[in-house]
Amino acid sequence: MDTPVLHRLALNESPYPPLPSVREAMQRAVEQAHRYPQFHPDDLTELIAAWCRVTPDRVAVGSGSVGVALQLLRAVVRPGDAVAYAWRTFDAYPLLAAMVGAHPVPVPLSPDGHQDLGALLAALDHRTRVVVLCNPHNPTGSLVTADALSAFLRQVPPHVTVLLDEAYVEFARGTELPDAPALLDAYPNLLVLRTFSKAYGLAALRIGYGLGAAGLVQRIRRQQLPFGINAVATAAVRASLRAERELRLRVDTVVAERERLGRELVSLGWRVRPGHANSVWLAAPDPIDEGAAALADAGVQARHYAGEGLRLTVGSRSANDAVLTALAGVRLRQDASRT
Ligand code: PMP
Repeated sequence: MDTPVLHRLALNESPYPPLPSVREAMQRAVEQAHRYPQFHPDDLTELIAAWCRVTPDRVAVGSGSVGVALQLLRAVVRPGDAVAYAWRTFDAYPLLAAMVGAHPVPVPLSPDGHQDLGALLAALDHRTRVVVLCNPHNPTGSLVTADALSAFLRQVPPHVTVLLDEAYVEFARGTELPDAPALLDAYPNLLVLRTFSKAYGLAALRIGYGLGAAGLVQRIRRQQLPFGINAVATAAVRASLRAERELRLRVDTVVAERERLGRELVSLGWRVRPGHANSVWLAAPDPIDEGAAALADAGVQARHYAGEGLRLTVGSRSANDAVLTALAGVRLRQDASRT
């Protein structure tokens, strides 16, 4: 019989349920569930624009950031055009490319888990309409620095839209992190993609947004489903922005736990590269397949890319302790088999 799942660490979700204030706002909105939401999601758009300190014409919202990504592809890609992305990446990108009839151009990550910006640039041609960069990257957590991003953007031809997926940006720390929204004036072909699913813990409610030049945003909005944004979700976003300080503290805790997990795993003999998302990435030749089996036996659901890597979402302290216990066991068994 399979071990029951005790800890869900496979989808880079927040370990925290909604704050009481957010739950109350959702309950109030549920009482109005017989009413339609807005035809165009103007309230949500204005809310996000004010919070991001941009004008509303620079904000496109959608059903999760994945929904905004699809709206972008629908807006700019015709069947037979190419969409380039580093591979491995978030599983949705090849699916979204297929949905719009695009030719997928996966570009291998560098051996240290970074998106290979030179190879991505070399993969762009007259057919390319979109290049996806994920920062921090999923699944490796690697970071494209501000300098590297600026150099990349300078070299991308203007007929290619850069989809800069910052789903995990709130978990990244340090001076090298790009200020992507500040680049929008210089690059009308840039869309910065963000979400309330990760740091804000609202994955079930499906709210994402893109920041871009007004012209690009207008094209993306034309692909927005009428009545497509849920009123309960909008209420949750409004309440979450009011509770931002509390939510930021939760993010700080996740970041501190990520660093603890990393340090402890290194002391157990695992090679852990610096990660900037809400996850830790273990890669072959470390014994990741054995690690995945040990985690499954311990009731920990992690994301296992067989023969390649293991992505562990940073969970609650007890979930992270369960990870450490299971992965310590793998090392002990390996050491015992060597002696
Ligand atoms: N981008 C990346 C890099 C992701 O890893 C994910 C979710 N795993 C998403 C986007 C999708 O997030 P959302 O819930 O906003 O659609």
